[in-house]
Amino acid sequence: MSSNQASQQTWLPGSTIGILGGGQLGRMMALAGTAMGYRFITLDPTQDSPCGQVAGQIEAAYDDVDAARRLAAASDVITYEFENVDAEVAALLEKESSVPQGSALLYTTQHRLREKRAIEAAGVPVAPYREITSLESLREAAAELGLPGVLKTATGGYDGKGQIVLRSEDQLETAYEELAATGRELVLEKFVDFQCEISVIAARSPKGEVKSFPVAENIHVNNILHLSIVPARVEEQVQREARKLAEQLVEHLGAVGLLAVEMFVTKDGQLYVNELAPRPHNSGHYTMEACATSQFEQHVRAVCNMPLGDTTLLTPVVMVNVLGQHLEQVIRASGRPSIAVTEYGVVPKLHLYGKSDVKKDRKMGHINLLCKDVQDGLDWVEQTNIWRQG
Ligand code: AMP
Repeated sequence: MSSNQASQQTWLPGSTIGILGGGQLGRMMALAGTAMGYRFITLDPTQDSPCGQVAGQIEAAYDDVDAARRLAAASDVITYEFENVDAEVAALLEKESSVPQGSALLYTTQHRLREKRAIEAAGVPVAPYREITSLESLREAAAELGLPGVLKTATGGYDGKGQIVLRSEDQLETAYEELAATGRELVLEKFVDFQCEISVIAARSPKGEVKSFPVAENIHVNNILHLSIVPARVEEQVQREARKLAEQLVEHLGAVGLLAVEMFVTKDGQLYVNELAPRPHNSGHYTMEACATSQFEQHVRAVCNMPLGDTTLLTPVVMVNVLGQHLEQVIRASGRPSIAVTEYGVVPKLHLYGKSDVKKDRKMGHINLLCKDVQDGLDWVEQTNIWRQG
């Protein structure tokens, strides 16, 4: 099928959507799409995966080509919920089924250097960076960009793993040795003295329709997302610019489905893109109750070439992540009326992902706190005491 024919194809409700990956993102995609009348099947190695609890599941490794073939046979259209899709599996799925998202953007976002070059080619700013190929090149790059800087592996890093902040020259050698030992390519970025971190999720359909969601202000604790605050507490003009950049990126990259764009806002309001993710994103969970269309519904709409949904924000909201260390207290508190609806005038909406293996720092769920003012949501988080320990 030619790409032009492919861009005309629409998958109406009643079609079966295959999801590579069965984690919480797949689960929430399937929940949103099931309400629209779609059917779902996921491929995931975990028995009773979060997505498998609400959809059909093929229990196999992500790089199991035979299992991928079974997924293709069972699905009208295929999407994925994580970036590190095996190249052989991606090629097979494209050949034997329909993958409107293609694999080019996956290839780009699997590697920080490729990603930064693609962002720059779209005319969107990234923090100054250098490719690092030796200790000597790290020394040169540190001298050129100036310290502090952040040395990162080009692949395989997430939630702050595979990166080291460099504050002085005498740290260069040990940091280089530590990250070079991973065998991965490296990149040095200038440290951005940011006012805050924000993200915008934009969607594009094969027809070329583009829409972005309101800007989220993101607060991380130990490099893991803790809070998303919407509306973000940055100037209107910066918010408009951030949405414009995200839309420019999806257009330029020819993305299909969602693209999450994480950015730094400097003290003088300059924006730098830090990272892209071609999928629903933790910082977009707030859309589930706070926007006219959730990011998950939007992703299904975009992949299926349906008209995109309205992204209007219906209420201020604070999203707080529930990690392994918070789960027990959150479950206990959810049964107490004083927490369920507080004197803060906050309406908490709890989402749990059905993971049986509870571990520290593992994402187990989130709560969307619908409020009149984001400060009320932030006060609610403080008042419960659950998140005090990090
Ligand atoms: P990343 O894995 O690139 O998303 O980085 C994880 C976190 O490290 C980011 O959310 C930032 O808080 C911080 N960080 C990463 N790169 C930089 C940078 N160049 N300047 C300042 N902080 C950074």
